[in-house]
Amino acid sequence: MGLALIERGQFLTSEGVRSHFSVAEMMCPCCQVWNVEQGLIDAAERFRFLVQEPVYVNSGYRCPKHNLEVSGARASRHMMGLAMDFRLRNKSIWTAFNFAIQAFPRVIIYPRRFIHADIDETFGEHWHRVKRGDGYDSIEVALGGHPELSPDQIFGDFAA
Ligand SMILES: [Zn+2]
Ligand SMILES: [Zn+2]
Repeated sequence: MGLALIERGQFLTSEGVRSHFSVAEMMCPCCQVWNVEQGLIDAAERFRFLVQEPVYVNSGYRCPKHNLEVSGARASRHMMGLAMDFRLRNKSIWTAFNFAIQAFPRVIIYPRRFIHADIDETFGEHWHRVKRGDGYDSIEVALGGHPELSPDQIFGDFAA
C-alpha cells in the first residue's frame, strides 16, 4: 500500500479524507522521520471512529536507533511503520482494547500502561497469547479482523 498520504501536517485516509492523526505525533522523536504505512493510518482512523474521543499516541514510527534507545523489540513493527502505541483518557484501557481488536489485526495490551496495535497480518487469525515479564503483564491478540474470541475468553485467560 505504501507510505501514508499527508496534507499540511495531517495524515489522510486512503480515501483522501483528513484523519485525526498528525505527522508530529507519529514521527520518530529523534530524527522526525515518519515512515508509517497508509494501512496503519486507516486502522487508526477506524479505531478513532469507534471510540469517538481523542487518541493519545505515545509512539508511532521509530528509526532503528530510537528503537534501541527505548528497548523496543528487535524486529519491532514500529521500525516498519506498521505499529503505534496509544492511550485514551476517557475510557478504561480494557474498553480501548476491546475497540482496538475490531480496528487492528494485532493488538497487545499492557494493562497498566498503554496499547500497542499494528497491521502486521503475518500472525494469522485467531491467535493470542499472554505474556508475563519485565514486571508487566501483557496480552497479545491477533484476530485477523474476524474476532471470534470474546473479550471474556481473552480476559479469562489473562486472569488465569
Ligand atoms: Zn529516529
Ligand atoms: Zn508498540
